[in-house]
Amino acid sequence: MKCRKCGGQAVLELPRHNAAFCSADFQEFFRKQVAEAIRKHKMFTREEPILVAVSGGKDSLALWDVLIETGYETAGLYLDLGIFDYSVESKAKCEGFAAARGQKLIVERVADAMGAPIPEVQKATRRPTCSACGLSKRYLMNRAAVEHGYPVIATGHNLDDEAAVLFGNVLHWQTDALSRQSPALASTHPKLARRVKPLYRLSERETAAYAFLRGIDYIVDECPFAKGATSIAHKQILDRLEEQSPGAKHNFLFGFLEKAKGYFDGAESVTLQQCAVCGQVTTGEICAFCKLHDQVKRRQAGPLSSTREGDRHE
Ligand code: SF4
Ligand SMILES: [Zn+2]
Ligand SMILES: [Zn+2]
Repeated sequence: MKCRKCGGQAVLELPRHNAAFCSADFQEFFRKQVAEAIRKHKMFTREEPILVAVSGGKDSLALWDVLIETGYETAGLYLDLGIFDYSVESKAKCEGFAAARGQKLIVERVADAMGAPIPEVQKATRRPTCSACGLSKRYLMNRAAVEHGYPVIATGHNLDDEAAVLFGNVLHWQTDALSRQSPALASTHPKLARRVKPLYRLSERETAAYAFLRGIDYIVDECPFAKGATSIAHKQILDRLEEQSPGAKHNFLFGFLEKAKGYFDGAESVTLQQCAVCGQVTTGEICAFCKLHDQVKRRQAGPLSSTREGDRHE
């Protein structure tokens, strides 16, 4: 197998591009895909500081690495969800990465903001864990960006993630979600940071290869709550399609973005205002995070609080 660029020994074959690359040329290909994503969706400029949301996994650390390598001013944001050993280990990966590259890492603890870590928050609500967790992550990410002066938050969502989300949204014709599905979400309020996904052109396999070739030390284990998630089932279906027909995921996602997304624009029109409790942006009077926080407090004050407090795991 020969590298398409230099003819040297290839280390990676990319069937959807009908190509193979050596390590140096694959890294170059990877950086070019990220540069193209940034350019095409006007994600950020060279002058803007970028807050990179890192989980300790391969995608977000590969994203942080490529942005540092290509000369952007960045800081990492790690959200400590308090999910048992998974959080302890993933935080250590992010701290190690930041220290080795002399980068700033901001750490926010869900337990500080919410009064309890994610597994306890879930018990206080009827919501599935990932729903309470996703809500908390979006809230804390935006709050950290606004408070620390970052106009834009970059996340490590890749092509596989985006195709799986699109698949789920199409299956249920969630028009609101389809109107929001984009590699770059603009700010529509002074207290709302832009959100961008510079890896959306790269597959999970490609980000894993990049992380490996760059020697990035990342957490391999998944969050224990990820097991059985619908998004994983959707990914598996798309993986089977991709195996039979390389490029299927790319065509599905890119076809939507280029040809179909316009039909859903404006499906969701919301007016943002500031939460009466915390001052962060919300569509109602009180934001969903503050409502959840209130539920957690009420549960902690209830009759079960003393026993539950004892087995809280952080
Ligand atoms: S799998 Fe669910 S609980 Fe775990 S980090 Fe992701 S959203 Fe949070
Ligand atoms: Zn080469
Ligand atoms: Zn609030």
